[in-house]
Amino acid sequence: MKILLIISDGLGDRPFSGLNGKTSLEAANKPNLNTLAKEGMIGLIDPIAPGVIPGSDTSHLNYLGYDPFKYYTGRGPFEAMGTGLTLRGGDVAFRANFATVDDDGVVTDRRAGRIREGTSELAKPLNMRIEDVEILFKEGTEHRAALVLRGEGITTNVSDNDPHSENLKPKEIVATAEDGKKTARILNEFYKRSLKILKEQPVNLKRKSEGLKEANAILFRGGGSVPRLPSFNEKYSIKGGYVAAVALVSGICRLVGLKDFTPSGVTGSTDTNVKAKFESAIKALNEVDFVLVNVKGTDIAGHDGSGVEKRDFIEKIDAAMSETVMKVKENTVICFTGDHSTPASVKEHTSDPVPILLRYPGCRKDGVGKFDEISAKDGYLRLRGSDLMNVLLSSANLAEKYGA
Ligand code: ZN
Ligand code: ZN
Repeated sequence: MKILLIISDGLGDRPFSGLNGKTSLEAANKPNLNTLAKEGMIGLIDPIAPGVIPGSDTSHLNYLGYDPFKYYTGRGPFEAMGTGLTLRGGDVAFRANFATVDDDGVVTDRRAGRIREGTSELAKPLNMRIEDVEILFKEGTEHRAALVLRGEGITTNVSDNDPHSENLKPKEIVATAEDGKKTARILNEFYKRSLKILKEQPVNLKRKSEGLKEANAILFRGGGSVPRLPSFNEKYSIKGGYVAAVALVSGICRLVGLKDFTPSGVTGSTDTNVKAKFESAIKALNEVDFVLVNVKGTDIAGHDGSGVEKRDFIEKIDAAMSETVMKVKENTVICFTGDHSTPASVKEHTSDPVPILLRYPGCRKDGVGKFDEISAKDGYLRLRGSDLMNVLLSSANLAEKYGA
């Protein structure tokens, strides 16, 4: 049997005033999800643990069976993955900013006037090699970027250069332990070279002529090493794949060795082609045993505070299931849930447990027959994120007996 895990990002919600006090999921017209609920069981999942507010990164790690308290190494590496860089275990990644310095090297704007355009052109020439170390540099949103060091003897035991306030010079990077000397030397050299490179970039010459702040320096902080995660395929003795447009999620999936089946042209927002994602995932199940699909629109609408848009996106997901997910029911474990709650009334992630639906041929039926946060209290399932892979594997008859 195959396993299809659909994660509607930020799915869980609270009563929303714009929907007469219903949650987006309660208010949505969702015949397919309700059918699956009738044929299976629903309940609640704590993505990490009760009261722990999950990030998308930590909860996806936990769902895949990688304890975030052990493997999560901070925002540096995970935000770097979020830029779309393909990272390897052992790489050291920093959160970076484009900044503005004056002729004396003093920081006059830590965010380069919140630069929005041209950062991709500025980032490219900052990819370089210093000694035997490869430097990867990739722009993120606005002034943000990621700086990654890859090579022998690179560690996180260094200070950073971010003065954290303006009218100061960026700090010299120093080793904070004996094994940090090489990394500090490389970073100082990178900073020196980046000043020269950035100054001459057409994007900056143009900004200067227009009286805009030049993005002529890089500040970096929050270094963390990319965790070495055991491969998913070896851990579970099955083959896994994923469909995800959001770089943070796809970065984690790639890091554990899931194969990418994301179709081209999909986005990480409410305008995405959900049907194309489901079609690709189902096709992938001919090749692999497990596919994780992430649809991000529910989280985006939650952050925007729009319970109505979130409801509409849930209806879009449900409609996309008709010709796809609903056609593979007979040989597939179908699990539908979220990676955390993003209530539209809060506009941020909360620790509220998330509704989960599980359906496979011959499974118990809990008789609830509809799928939402409130009905979930009557369902069978009470899970933590770390239970999810066990439950999915045993539902698919892929688990081994523990004991005699
Ligand atoms: Zn999320
Ligand atoms: Zn979010």
